[in-house]
Amino acid sequence: MSRIELRGVSKRFGNTPVLNDIDLTIAAGEFCVFVGPSGCGKSTLLRLLAGLEDPSAGEIEIDAVRVNELPPARRNVAMVFQSYALYPHMSVHQNMAFGLQHRQLPAGEIEGRIAEAVRILQLDGLLQRRPKELSGGQRQRVAIARAIVRQPKVFLFDEPLSNLDAALRVQTRLEIARLHRALGLASMVYVTHDQVEAMTLADRIVLLQPLAGRGDAPSVAQAGPPLELYHHPANRFVAGFIGSPAMNFIEAKVKSLGDGCVLADVHGMPCAARLSPQGLTPGEPVTLGIRPEHVLLGQGTQRARVSHVERLGELSHVYLDLPGASVPLLAKSPRDDIAIGDLLPFALPAAALHLFRADGVAQARGALAEVPVEAREAAPTRGS
Ligand code: ADP
Repeated sequence: MSRIELRGVSKRFGNTPVLNDIDLTIAAGEFCVFVGPSGCGKSTLLRLLAGLEDPSAGEIEIDAVRVNELPPARRNVAMVFQSYALYPHMSVHQNMAFGLQHRQLPAGEIEGRIAEAVRILQLDGLLQRRPKELSGGQRQRVAIARAIVRQPKVFLFDEPLSNLDAALRVQTRLEIARLHRALGLASMVYVTHDQVEAMTLADRIVLLQPLAGRGDAPSVAQAGPPLELYHHPANRFVAGFIGSPAMNFIEAKVKSLGDGCVLADVHGMPCAARLSPQGLTPGEPVTLGIRPEHVLLGQGTQRARVSHVERLGELSHVYLDLPGASVPLLAKSPRDDIAIGDLLPFALPAAALHLFRADGVAQARGALAEVPVEAREAAPTRGS
């Protein structure tokens, strides 16, 4: 178990900044997932930890030792790549043994470590095969086993599931979570662009955002446990990235401010949100946010026309046309009898609404944040 500390870490390639001002502590034994859209610098950040790239500024420590100048081999980290990076001419056994032989470990120690990795990753019967004789999933398990036998302080995974088909991705995801437990809670840092992988695997998510057009803002949009990012996104970027399908955004204006609530106007439709009114002014343009799973269909006094329906079996995605809105409002519903053209009552529960100011920053929830979904209803307002 190892603790990793990054202080003021930035990276530029030539004149192009890729990562900016990253302050981050990854606790010993933590499963930390770097997630974000393609090109936001996730792999570069992982490579900085591995020592495959040098930071342009800042300090990286592993277990309180500055590693900026340490070559990859001396950092005691093991990296698992998307492309597996196995030696094609070597058997599975040789792939695992090679690095340990290079380090001149005793033969008995090498065989013991390989046997343990084979047991954890269920590779029995595959030891004499070459990589080309394995399926994609088996190759990835060998790549992980090769990392395990090194007994590193930190495991670094770079999009390890991207080359697998959907079913195998789910299975291997479970295996990696199990592995994290089986290895006595080894520290793991994992890169993915897939927010579902991030939500399901992480103790803590570090969501990175692209720097383009954002001046010298830090790269980390928000870092925290998965459900914290889901329930309390710090800004509109986080709100839109975490959650699938994505949060609905609705352009609105502040109408009036109450005690622990904000009344907004959505093209003539009043919308109460249980949020701190602090810093808001009536008339201010804002964006309301609500997750599709929190839109209540069949309840409330508002009505909207259904413009499209996607039936997934366990639930339906129902698209509603809101007056004056350019994009439809998406609701998840367990019903499968809703049809295009239906006029449906709907409600946007006050405690489920998010509000983002013009700069994208989320309005704080305040004291009533933990109201259960079932109990959500329009909050009383003053002065509307
Ligand atoms: P991600 O993993 O989030 O998709 P990367 O870390 O791979 O993003 O890349 C971030 C940005 O840095 C991209 O715009 C990429 O083109 C650029 N980049 C990565 N490696 C290099 C390099 N060696 N030289 C120049 N630009 C690079």
